[in-house]
Amino acid sequence: MKINPKHERRCVYCGCTDSKACVGGCSWVQIHEHTHTGVCSQCIPRLVTTLMDLTKRLHTPLHELIQDNAYRN
Ligand SMILES: [Zn+2]
Ligand SMILES: [Zn+2]
Repeated sequence: MKINPKHERRCVYCGCTDSKACVGGCSWVQIHEHTHTGVCSQCIPRLVTTLMDLTKRLHTPLHELIQDNAYRN
């Protein structure tokens, strides 16, 4: 059976599709039926990590972030 690429669902974060899933396999956690884009199960832990990092940064005073970057460079 030939799959029409237009109707393939795609993860907006890692770019995996119905025919090319993530390494280890994944399933759709959330999918938009009209755009055929969504989030796969492999990306949920990554998203949580990103969100937690963002939240941490939002609660860090700006001067501390600048200092932090200065040390790395
Ligand atoms: Zn994904
Ligand atoms: Zn995936």
